[in-house]
Amino acid sequence: MNNKKDIKSYTLSELEEELKAAGLPKFRAGQIYEWLHKKLVMSFDDMTNLSKDLREKLDSEYFITNISTELVQTSKIDGTRKYLFKLSDGNFVESVLMRYHHGNSVCISSQVGCRMGCRFCASTLDGLTRNLLPSEMLDEIYQIQKETGERVHNIVLMGTGEPMDNYDNVVRFLKMITNPDGLNISQRNITVSTCGIVENMKRLAMEKFQITLALSLHSVTDEKRRELMPIANKYSIEEIMEACEFYFENTGRRITFEYSLVRDVNDREEDAEGLIKLAKRVGAHVNLIPVNPIKERDYRETEHAAVVAFKNKLEKSRINVTIRREMGRDIDGACGQLRKRHMDGTIGRMHS
Ligand code: SAH
Repeated sequence: MNNKKDIKSYTLSELEEELKAAGLPKFRAGQIYEWLHKKLVMSFDDMTNLSKDLREKLDSEYFITNISTELVQTSKIDGTRKYLFKLSDGNFVESVLMRYHHGNSVCISSQVGCRMGCRFCASTLDGLTRNLLPSEMLDEIYQIQKETGERVHNIVLMGTGEPMDNYDNVVRFLKMITNPDGLNISQRNITVSTCGIVENMKRLAMEKFQITLALSLHSVTDEKRRELMPIANKYSIEEIMEACEFYFENTGRRITFEYSLVRDVNDREEDAEGLIKLAKRVGAHVNLIPVNPIKERDYRETEHAAVVAFKNKLEKSRINVTIRREMGRDIDGACGQLRKRHMDGTIGRMHS
């Protein structure tokens, strides 16, 4: 992509400025923006209401990110669709469409791979390849809308990658997808999930978005958290809780704690008690997720009855708690499993 600029990551007003500087009229920006964000063209040549000269000029200065569907898996149980997308440079990312009664929810990736190293997560096994551009995150959503012909209502940044490790691009993406010039998705229908990168959680608070911030907590003591999540060596739970309080104070939005239950690791009585204390402190909603086992590690999920007992214990202390509905269990459910299996060349084989 040499020195060309990523035209799909410009907001409409920025594009207007950009074209103005090049001596072009404002309405051209509107036309180009529509081609990129509504008609979803992948080349300047397809912008048929622009002159050939202008198309060539644009092509010499800008590139258009391209996404294509490599593979789709559809769950027979609940209609969840898991997409493996190929990017312009040949890298792969995955996104998931979940159909709920309240609308279509899409889980997108924010990076190609991840460098956070959480022990139970398949997305991080091969490390980080690169950040996704704002336009590439938009593309994940555009492509799903195009393929299904259905509107996306909710977005969760819970696919591969750590959104707070790709801060600027994620924030730009959030601004664009919620903009009336774009898909105009309500900020309240967006959740960003983080393993707890404290500085950027605070920066995000200062953006004053009305989005939900989800914190992947998974343990209530620093010692145990460090066993599951290397990032815990950098930030203590105390520092993270202060960042959660800061987020709430600045946005008025309650934090969600994600807590993946791993059998005999973080599902005991004292874990529930610790979780109650932390959730009360910041007024968090708790989302319990039975860990989705990956073959590279020997973590097992907490049995269903024990998950329900854990939930009941939290509820007795008046914590707002849900058990994450497991969508698409019959397809490669866990984060990063589809991409990993595709790259390892094991797609089509059964996995344990
Ligand atoms: N990096 C971000 C978002 C991506 S992961 C974060 O850490 O929050 C989205 C959520 O799925 C996180 O809570 C993550 O810890 C969890 N997760 C990853 N692999 C999982 C697995 N195998 N089973 C259950 N939850 C998992």
